[in-house]
Amino acid sequence: MAILPITVYGDKILRQKAKPVKSIDDNLIDKIRNMFDSMRNANGIGLAANQIGYTESVFVVDLEGVEGYEKFKPMVFINPEIILQSDETKIIEEGCLSLPLLRAEVERPEKIKIRYLDTDENLKEIEADDLFARVILHEYDHLIGKLIPDRVNEEIKKQLQPELEKIKKREIKIDYPITE
Ligand code: ZN
Repeated sequence: MAILPITVYGDKILRQKAKPVKSIDDNLIDKIRNMFDSMRNANGIGLAANQIGYTESVFVVDLEGVEGYEKFKPMVFINPEIILQSDETKIIEEGCLSLPLLRAEVERPEKIKIRYLDTDENLKEIEADDLFARVILHEYDHLIGKLIPDRVNEEIKKQLQPELEKIKKREIKIDYPITE
């Protein structure tokens, strides 16, 4: 078990596109374990590889602790692709472990379909809606180098700027490790 520091706004890796996974080997499984450990330590419900410094196209989701989602098993998405997005959208307030303490209302598709590999190399396709779709879209964004401020209008983006600057300078107090 390893809890790794979470990368935060300003860290270049958060702006990089993830590299497709070529083989699901022990090394990758170790990294996935570290992703779960680091995410849970920070009380997150989703984490993308670049949030702990990895370049692979992988994210994990764990909604088990969320009311109404107790039956959702923790999931690993390898080389994910969003293959359908509904025209209907929903506005939900989001946070991000890489943007500590920041909250913003973000409009995203309400329903999606995603294709990915699981850790047993099965190609899967599932539909998701509501919070589940939301977490998937948020984590998928990390894998293409996008963050919450890229998904809000100019006005909100401006309002977030002072907070983003503080995060960049590490002028924040949080109870999980972040990069220096
Ligand atoms: Zn995030």
